[in-house]
Amino acid sequence: MNIEQILRTPQQLRSKAETDTINTYLTAQLESAIAAADEPNANKWALLSMIFEAQMDYLRVYALFESEEYYAAWCLLERIEIAIKGIFRLYQFVEDEYRIKFIFEYIRKLQSLFPYKVFGSSEYIKEIVRCGICNELVTLRKRCGHVKGQLYMGKMCVHEIEQSHFVGMSIVDVPFNKYSVMGVTSKTDDSYHYPQIEYLMSVIDHPFNEWQTKNYKIFKPHREYQTGRNEKCPCGSSKKYKSCCLTKPGIETDHTDFLLTYPTLKSKLKMNQLKNRK
Ligand SMILES: [Zn+2]
Ligand SMILES: [Zn+2]
Repeated sequence: MNIEQILRTPQQLRSKAETDTINTYLTAQLESAIAAADEPNANKWALLSMIFEAQMDYLRVYALFESEEYYAAWCLLERIEIAIKGIFRLYQFVEDEYRIKFIFEYIRKLQSLFPYKVFGSSEYIKEIVRCGICNELVTLRKRCGHVKGQLYMGKMCVHEIEQSHFVGMSIVDVPFNKYSVMGVTSKTDDSYHYPQIEYLMSVIDHPFNEWQTKNYKIFKPHREYQTGRNEKCPCGSSKKYKSCCLTKPGIETDHTDFLLTYPTLKSKLKMNQLKNRK
């Protein structure tokens, strides 16, 4: 199997069977390197597996968008982000030969299209922590010598929290992890709207299409709103209308433009439809 070639072309669509074959191959290579006590090769195969997983997960995000499972997609994006940070600690990409830098950049872009603004953040005090490689206790004074995030015979060193003490919960703008979006746990209780993602999906043909967004403020006419002077401003600032947008040319509203680097098939069709309507 030409694994290099496969990892260099993540944009190529692969069937479930093909993906399974590649995964089986990667696992077999890793296991035989471990069996031969060949640490450099074990670490190499572990890294290649992580790269392949990140690529496949990135494609899965778009599959979740298609089935409108936005919260699940959000959680997967978070998982890929953490995984890629781990990959970056292990390997410096000179070129973006496996498109990992691309994926990392687009994770950020996709996250910015979600309407989530507030998150719950749980705080814990770690009481007992063990090294995932040697199982030794990790304390401030004593360390086993394994470095968190490094590979040892194909296994990443993580610190396993054996006992922790829940301190409390706070609501934050920029959480340490982004899973706990306030007010949504799955597709069934999701009352958010995702117009930006829907729009993106209507103009791109493929997850590896390049695009960017331009955000700016527009003013919506006051007459579109029936807001009293002392009520909260419709712009969402939580200030009173009279001391916020009432004195401005209109209600300040976020607006996002999508810019495709290259025209896609879908975007061309859209353009034609618009032309024909005239
Ligand atoms: Zn250790
Ligand atoms: Zn306002």
